[in-house]
Amino acid sequence: MPTYATALQHPIFNTLSQAAANLGLESYVIGGFVRDYILKRGEAKDIDIVAVGSGIALAKEVSRLLPGNPKVSVFKNYGTAMLRAAGMELEFVGARKESYQQDSRNPAVEDGSLEDDQNRRDFTINALALSLNKDDFGKLLDPFNGITDLEQRVIRTPLDPSITFSDDPLRMLRAIRFATQLNFNIAPEALQAITNKANRIEIISEERIVDEIHKILMAPTPSKGFALLHKTGLLPYIFPELVALQGIDEKEGQRHKDNFWHTLEVVDNIAKTTDNLWLRWAALLHDIGKAPTKKFDKKVGWTFHGHEFVGSKMVYKLFKRLKMPLNDKMKFVQKMVLMSSRPIVLASDVTDSAVRRLIFDAGDHVEDLMTLCEADITTKNPKKFKKYHNNFQRVREKIVEVEERDHVRNFQPPVSGEEIMQTFNLKPSKEIGMIKDAIKEAILEGEIPNEYQAAKEYMLKKGAELNLTPVD
Ligand code: ATP
Ligand code: MG
Repeated sequence: MPTYATALQHPIFNTLSQAAANLGLESYVIGGFVRDYILKRGEAKDIDIVAVGSGIALAKEVSRLLPGNPKVSVFKNYGTAMLRAAGMELEFVGARKESYQQDSRNPAVEDGSLEDDQNRRDFTINALALSLNKDDFGKLLDPFNGITDLEQRVIRTPLDPSITFSDDPLRMLRAIRFATQLNFNIAPEALQAITNKANRIEIISEERIVDEIHKILMAPTPSKGFALLHKTGLLPYIFPELVALQGIDEKEGQRHKDNFWHTLEVVDNIAKTTDNLWLRWAALLHDIGKAPTKKFDKKVGWTFHGHEFVGSKMVYKLFKRLKMPLNDKMKFVQKMVLMSSRPIVLASDVTDSAVRRLIFDAGDHVEDLMTLCEADITTKNPKKFKKYHNNFQRVREKIVEVEERDHVRNFQPPVSGEEIMQTFNLKPSKEIGMIKDAIKEAILEGEIPNEYQAAKEYMLKKGAELNLTPVD
């Protein structure tokens, strides 16, 4: 077996090695760190260490040897421990053997050898271990030919994939996630096993599922993961709304595009321009309202009236079902879905007032909205592609120009409700709201500039229309 001592040059590995020697334990670096080192995926921040013996005891000894004795977090139930050192997170576990029951992904655990521990790992490329022992420091232990799979870019399970996936169905999502992140293929027998066991995903908690979806969405080409979820039959368990977008209807010679595959293209497009996870979510969900609103109209063909509004309501239900926090991130996604067609209307006719309204409604998210709309351009006609992008470029320029002049992005009423009350000697009443609204409308329409003096005059005019007299 080759040695990879170069992977272990960081001084922390000597400390680990010394700590294990002090306790008379064998220990190994295993999993993601080794895989990513060989793939040259850049400096890893997480290191998984397996001790043949107590992982918790090893963690404590490592802490004792380190300057400042970093705090050890112990997870007794799992027999694991964690500490942070040198900007890295070190996870310790004792080598173990696992056996599973039908209804749970939590196995019965007993102490085991390094081989037992490698057997319980999900994929051959995640079972690679490097020795931290003094006599063979850096030696690679690769019982399942993980190195070959790394070279051939294959996701394969060490044991029978049906058992691996049935034991812990989360591994089906992990397979798809790693295939997407690393741009690997899933071995055919593993892919078949996922397809056969897809319904087992039902025992996995929503939180774990969402973690994997986040990672798929943050990959360079997320469509790869969603296509695999679709192909294996996992998608209906996670995103029935996306499944409903699939397919092309034809009536009287009129067809609409396949909105599922279109959506995946949009997600890939946006992945090239932003690392904002929630904007990527917005791309994934921007068309989900199209399935329930689809209609055929003899005159105009296929329509999806109000799909943005329906879609934004569906975002809430989807987040809730997946137990995602219903917070301002969710509201952001809803807002992007709701507004997803607004800039398109503008593209052909960019008036100042329409741009002001767009900025007013989108607020700080107006650039994100433009990014989403640009990603939404999936036409295969190069002329149209260029034209649409140019149109949006004009809208972007206009947004900057209008915002510089009119400052409506975080609109603050130039005349306050207080001042309206004092001017007309009013108690809190609906007239105040009406006047404030009229001033806002006049500014957005461009009737008056967004300035105090103009707004004050407008207030007096509106007041007069409502038969209010100013007190001096
Ligand atoms: P990354 O941290 O980049 O997602 P990783 O390989 O480090 O990748 P972790 O989830 O941190 O993944 O898990 C660390 C190691 O633990 C994996 O490499 C794998 O060996 C093992 N592992 C994690 N989850 C499972 C699982 N569900 N079944 C079997 N082995 C697992
Ligand atoms: Mg990890």
